[in-house]
Amino acid sequence: MKDLDHVEMLNEKVSRRNFLKGSALLASIAVVSATGAMSNSAYAGVTKASVHYQDTPNGKSECSNCIQFIPGSSAKANGTCKIVDGVISPHGWCVAYSAKA
Ligand code: SF4
Repeated sequence: MKDLDHVEMLNEKVSRRNFLKGSALLASIAVVSATGAMSNSAYAGVTKASVHYQDTPNGKSECSNCIQFIPGSSAKANGTCKIVDGVISPHGWCVAYSAKA
C-alpha cells in the first residue's frame, strides 16, 4: 500500500512539474510576442527627411512597388508606409525602398 502511495505522490509531482514547465513556456511565448510587437513598432516614426523621401520615382522604383507601401483607396491615391511617417505618394521613393518579389 505504501508503494502505491509513493507512486501517486510521484505522479502528482511530475504532473505539477509539467504544469509549471507549461506555464513557463506560455510566459516565454507571451514575452516573445510582446517583444516582436515592440520591434515592429520600433520602425514607426521614421521621418521622410531621414530616408530622403521624394514625391517622384527613382527610375522604375517607386512606393507602389515597394513592400513597405500601404495603398490608399485606389491605385492612384496616396497611401501610407509601414516605416515612414505621413502621407506617401504611390509614385514616391526613399532610400528604404525594397522591391516587391
Ligand atoms: S519604404 Fe520608402 S519607397 Fe518604400 S513605400 Fe515607404 S516611403 Fe515608399
